[in-house]
Amino acid sequence: MAKIGINIATGSLQQPEMIVGIDLGTTNSLVAIIHPDTKKPVVLKEHDGAALVPSIIHFGNRGAITVGDKAKEFLIAQPHNTIFSVKRLMGKSYGDVKDQSSFFTYKVIDDNTESLVKIQAGDKFYSPVELSSFILKELKTRAEHILKTPVTKAVITVPAYFNDAQRQATRDAGKLAGLDVLRIVNEPTAASLAYGMGMSKEETKIVAVYDLGGGTFDISILRISNGIFEVLSTNGDTYLGGDDFDRVISTYWTDQLGLTEEELNNNKSLMQEFRLQAEEAKKHLSNKDSFSCKIADYEMQLTKSEFERLIKPFVEKTIQCCKNALLDAGVNKDEIDEVIMVGGSTRVPAVKKAVSESFNKKLHDSLNPDEVVALGAAVQADILAGNNKDFLLLDITPLSLGIETMGGLMDVLIPRNSKIPSKVGRQYTTQKDGQGSMRISVYQGERDLVKDNRKLAEFSLIGIPGMPSGMPKVEVSFLVNADGILVVKAKELRSGVEQSIEVKPQYGLTDDEVEKMLLDSITHAKEDIQTRALVEAQTEAKQIIETTSQFISKNKNFLTVEELTETMSAINKLTELMDKGNKDEIQGHIEKLNEISRPYAERLMDEAISTAMKGKKI
Ligand code: ADP
Ligand code: MG
Repeated sequence: MAKIGINIATGSLQQPEMIVGIDLGTTNSLVAIIHPDTKKPVVLKEHDGAALVPSIIHFGNRGAITVGDKAKEFLIAQPHNTIFSVKRLMGKSYGDVKDQSSFFTYKVIDDNTESLVKIQAGDKFYSPVELSSFILKELKTRAEHILKTPVTKAVITVPAYFNDAQRQATRDAGKLAGLDVLRIVNEPTAASLAYGMGMSKEETKIVAVYDLGGGTFDISILRISNGIFEVLSTNGDTYLGGDDFDRVISTYWTDQLGLTEEELNNNKSLMQEFRLQAEEAKKHLSNKDSFSCKIADYEMQLTKSEFERLIKPFVEKTIQCCKNALLDAGVNKDEIDEVIMVGGSTRVPAVKKAVSESFNKKLHDSLNPDEVVALGAAVQADILAGNNKDFLLLDITPLSLGIETMGGLMDVLIPRNSKIPSKVGRQYTTQKDGQGSMRISVYQGERDLVKDNRKLAEFSLIGIPGMPSGMPKVEVSFLVNADGILVVKAKELRSGVEQSIEVKPQYGLTDDEVEKMLLDSITHAKEDIQTRALVEAQTEAKQIIETTSQFISKNKNFLTVEELTETMSAINKLTELMDKGNKDEIQGHIEKLNEISRPYAERLMDEAISTAMKGKKI
């Protein structure tokens, strides 16, 4: 039953708050909701019927910022102030994108390859997160205008291949736009949901999602079972899409007219006109056989068959990617149960034909391909709002889970944002000879030292049979089941001794606390890396001091006085340095101690071998 509240200030009835689904695309972005009456997903449209907002931001004079169709008009005339394709820069450093720098007509700041990219527009610098937040703010305002109610909660989609940094950046952009991002959902997952797949618990299916947008192509192979969407493989080309179709048409025309690149560069508005008409032609040819228009004084024409010839290499390339995706997923094309078409460019009949032939299947293309991701995001939003109770929630772990290793370091077994259920195992060994038990301390958090993370549980694996250090093989496995419950198991593989414990990782942590832990890990990232390096050096120093001391006390009769004193003083020096906390000095002296002991260790080894040989009768 829906709850209805009364706004005390106005006395009016308040609708329960709507959670919107947002497709934040490279080329176009849009918002969808579940219609309160029909309970079906619908995209939000302006009065003029437009649902898509071009993901373009224009910075005008005196700081005016426009987003969408208005901004698109400046794309060619004011390339420096008109930002497109920000999605490509999310969570990236300059080092990550410098090979594609010619693609961006605006300035991507390149003074520090390590840090995240910044974009210059006018005399200001913006991060991709800020730029994306401008798009999201525009979408939020539009949605509020259409729905006539505040919109503060959203589900946002991202490509399946987006890594942690890119997902986090998308979340941050939402927050900056004043949206509480309840979930980040994979685009192919959303597309499947829009077609009603994965909505029943019993169903198991393998689905191929073919997504050809404006500038990118993605093919994802998903396995859906028990309401869980598992990405088996992703493939594609991050620089292939409908823009390429426009470009080849426009070049085809300008070549016909014998216009040179220079002439076009000097007449930006003419170039813009060719691009716009090329896109018109392409769209027109999706359901007509020929197109004609007038650009300046030129009469231009394009037939469907000519268009298909022009885009053939691009289409063939996407088909090759599909084959690679199947190989990576380890599935045969006959095992694919459904093929879903996503992205505006899949409206092109030649594209549909090629995909259908390649998978040898009928395609799911009844929904508007440029709307299906947003529609699916709305379905997910509705599930989160609790309106779809019998449906299993797809979930991910909000914080990393790991155990404490030597020196108090956090060893992550299940990274943050992993899908659940999830299972991982890793082998560890003992530090001391004859060690009979091993303490397993389980932590949650993003920091490098466990003391900065949250301890979830601790237990000991006892009864490990006496063995020299390094011999036992203790496998620690983490299993997070569908309810978000973590089961940790430790098993010594040589003897079979095992122990396990159940923990509820989420228990007692509020969303704010989770957020704080994530923020802390970002704020302390640099310091954490330094600490980790220092702890590793200290641990190594401790080990080498121990082994060297043992070695010389066993073999002191075979060493010269000089060797002994030199070694002892190097050990003392290293012990002293260990507490001082300079990683480089510690490493330098580990090296020194190694250099001192290496000659006599080798000598003794040789002697031992030759003694052994002498003793043998031939
Ligand atoms: P993205 O996911 O990259 O944000 P979309 O899915 O919105 O992009 O796809 C945008 C692309 O779809 C553009 O290149 C646009 O020209 C193209 N497109 C839109 N409608 C049609 C159509 N009727 N025929 C061919 N291409 C189309
Ligand atoms: Mg898209």
